[in-house]
Amino acid sequence: MDFLRPASWEEALAAKAEHPTAVPIAGGTDVMVEINFDHRRPEYLLDLNRIGELSEWEVGQENVRLGASVPYSHIMEHLRAELPGLALASHTVASPQIRNRGGVGGNLGTASPAGDAHPALLAAGAEVEAVSVRGTRMIPIDAFYTGVKRNALAPDELIRAVHIKKADGPQQYSKVGTRNAMVIAVCAFGLALHPETRTVRTGIGSAAPTPVRAKEAEEFLNAALEEGGFWDSRTIITPSVAAQFATLAAGACNPIDDVRGTASYRRHAVGIMARRTLGWTWESYRGTGRSTEGAA
Ligand SMILES: Cc1cc2nc3c(=O)[nH]c(=O)nc-3n(C[C@H](O)[C@H](O)[C@H](O)COP(=O)(O)OP(=O)(O)OC[C@H]3O[C@@H](n4cnc5c(N)ncnc54)[C@H](O)[C@@H]3O)c2cc1C
Repeated sequence: MDFLRPASWEEALAAKAEHPTAVPIAGGTDVMVEINFDHRRPEYLLDLNRIGELSEWEVGQENVRLGASVPYSHIMEHLRAELPGLALASHTVASPQIRNRGGVGGNLGTASPAGDAHPALLAAGAEVEAVSVRGTRMIPIDAFYTGVKRNALAPDELIRAVHIKKADGPQQYSKVGTRNAMVIAVCAFGLALHPETRTVRTGIGSAAPTPVRAKEAEEFLNAALEEGGFWDSRTIITPSVAAQFATLAAGACNPIDDVRGTASYRRHAVGIMARRTLGWTWESYRGTGRSTEGAA
């Protein structure tokens, strides 16, 4: 196995173009497990750790541009206000050691349906900045996951950053695991209220071949909130509306039975998490007392 150590982003892109089968390594918390267990023996490892810009972030007017290698611990520490859903999801990842190494670029590279960043990215609205020597393209997060542990990157592309919409309202993340820490999700649910556009977005983890949004549930809730005047009145959401949202969210799942849980348990749990996260976020929205216009 050859170890490629580019000193700059340009060198990394050139190396990936020359060796498209090279496996990038950032924190290594997925890659090294696969190599140690002999599940993967790549001809080339492409070490991205000398490229400082991948560990940087910028907070813009509308978006946060999060470098692919920014570790979860930094998201929790520095971006809680801008990316509350992702910060909450980051909290649930593994242990402090893993959170100091692993990041969103690696989570996207692995594209496991159980990865914790995905529901938060789907709910917030994000785009993946994919770059090769051929140029840069922005991949909407909804189009990024193409199958079980498969993503939309071309063989010569690397993830440079993820552009995530800054929160304009409350966000939540809920995860069911077999214990409280160091656990891969049995299933997970992310929810973001977007008062500026009067919409709600969701993300479901580990309950379908890829991370998915519960689009029918979103459409139902968006219509119910609008018709009932809830965004303006900030009154408690009718229980029947919350129940129907939960039922539709559970219906968006396409889970399997595996060692971590059964399909029917996952469906049930996603419904519960959908109702709870809606309750939590809506309570927080009601309590903010902020105008929906220009809220940031
Ligand atoms: C003990 C343990 C517990 C864990 N618990 C959790 C958990 O609770 N939740 C969770 O979501 N994950 C968990 N993981 C998995 C892992 O920590 C995460 O997926 C993490 O986000 C991976 O980030 P990384 O930087 O370490 O990626 P790496 O291991 O370096 O890379 C992962 C994949 O992404 C690719 N890649 C990395 N960077 C780029 C880039 N810039 N461009 C293109 N491809 C890239 C790599 O080639 C590889 O395919 C756990 C892992 C361990 C070992």
